[in-house]
Amino acid sequence: MTHIITSLCLRDSGCVEVCPVDCIVPGVPQGDHPWYYIDPDTCIDCGACVPACPYNAIFPEHDVPAAYTAKGGEFISRIGLTGHYEGANDHGVKVVLDSTKQLAAGEVVDLTADIKANYDYFQSGPGYKANDTDEAKSARG
Ligand code: SF4
Ligand code: SF4
Repeated sequence: MTHIITSLCLRDSGCVEVCPVDCIVPGVPQGDHPWYYIDPDTCIDCGACVPACPYNAIFPEHDVPAAYTAKGGEFISRIGLTGHYEGANDHGVKVVLDSTKQLAAGEVVDLTADIKANYDYFQSGPGYKANDTDEAKSARG
């Protein structure tokens, strides 16, 4: 079992520092991998990252909601969406996302569709190599 980062992630980066096994990695390039991702093979399911996320984007894998009901105002970030988000991460570095959608209150989203991306990022994507990129280093301020 593992924890999963879903498309509610807005690249705040606050979860990274609290992970005791350093298994949370930024998605790079951001245009292809819009969230941060958890390595399912290394995660020890401690749960420390869950309260560290200001957007409540992280769930134990078996608790990822198939019918997440929006409170209203949350953003999801998925390839193909066209909304725009600007904010700042936990280090005060500007975050700009151009594949987002702001959810309306009561809107229902299947977040289980985001599980596979966490696995794929480490099995066939950049994985831990992302930490060495300029994009990841600049996110740390
Ligand atoms: S704390 Fe939440 S929003 Fe920030 S990178 Fe982690 S999962 Fe994404
Ligand atoms: S549950 Fe614990 S080990 Fe797994 S990603 Fe979160 S902080 Fe890291």
